[in-house]
Amino acid sequence: MKTIGIIGGGQLGRMLAIAAARLNFRTVILEPQADCPAAQVANAQITAAYDDPAALDRLAAQCDIVTYEFENVPVSAAERLAATRPVYPPARALAVAQDRVTEKRFINDCGIATADFREVDDQAGLEAALIAFGGQGVLKTRRLGYDGKGQKVFRSAADSPEGAFAALGVVPLILESFVPFEREISIIAARAIDGAIVAYDPAENEHRNGILYRSTLPATLGPDTVEKAKAAAAAILSALDYVGVIGVEFFVLADGTPIVNEIAPRVHNSGHWTEAACVVSQFEQHIRAVAGLPLGNGARHSDCVMQNLIGDEIDDVPAWLARPDALVHLYGKAEARPGRKMGHVTWLTGSKS
Ligand code: AMP
Repeated sequence: MKTIGIIGGGQLGRMLAIAAARLNFRTVILEPQADCPAAQVANAQITAAYDDPAALDRLAAQCDIVTYEFENVPVSAAERLAATRPVYPPARALAVAQDRVTEKRFINDCGIATADFREVDDQAGLEAALIAFGGQGVLKTRRLGYDGKGQKVFRSAADSPEGAFAALGVVPLILESFVPFEREISIIAARAIDGAIVAYDPAENEHRNGILYRSTLPATLGPDTVEKAKAAAAAILSALDYVGVIGVEFFVLADGTPIVNEIAPRVHNSGHWTEAACVVSQFEQHIRAVAGLPLGNGARHSDCVMQNLIGDEIDDVPAWLARPDALVHLYGKAEARPGRKMGHVTWLTGSKS
């Protein structure tokens, strides 16, 4: 029986480990936090930092293939493992996704639109970039931002940039032009070792406090937008010689044009609906891809809504369990802190429309 190493022990690693077990793979989790969500359902955990060389060598020794569940895995860690074991998705996908400037340049080089952007390395640079964008824009850290953290929005010239460079930590920033989007969607897609690609239907995503709240299928989109978004995801996968599942987030303009916001080289929260509304979920698809198995059927059989259970919304589980249309999935986290993703629920809203 083959063993898959998973770097990162959160809920995404947990759901990957469950999918791996269903296909007769063993899993080993590398994660510094003991008794993490993934290790609860895996065969073993190496409790160490993601960049601990001895731990990485132990992981390589115990596994046939290595993958990961979050995009901030140190590139050096992926490269160290890749010297002796297949590591999927490739380390280059991490390098691209970890820096918003590198990411946008890469996406633009694929012929795909993003927000206009400027690199910001100091307060004077911020002020010049804001003037260029008419006083509007979204200022973000280039690296290590997630769920809207490390961001500041400038809605009009009345929003002063004073102190903003310092407030975001005196680190390299990016100013993005403000995209007047009508909706936000994402495409979850997979690429196999032989280059085959399967893309799931786009989900329409609603955020609250910077965190994904709901994904709805189908998204309210014309067929043209769906095709363009799927084609963009496929182009990104091929350009990275990617293996595994990727999440591609888009803004959709009023005229239906999709603009890439960001990519996540991993299974994605906005793809959790696939476990309830597709024959093969994003988690199984990822395991199939990295293990060199044929990709599965990603067609959607039902309309559905996925909603995250955040913080004390975990208390609503008894009511969700009583609903005949709902599939509940919990992450094994002991403490329900505000903003913490504790689980999710997907309810089916009818046959595919
Ligand atoms: P991100 O961390 O890049 O996913 O951004 C978090 C959220 O902020 C997005 O889901 C959007 O709702 C909003 N946002 C980010 N960038 C922009 C932008 N350039 N224009 C308008 N809204 C944005």
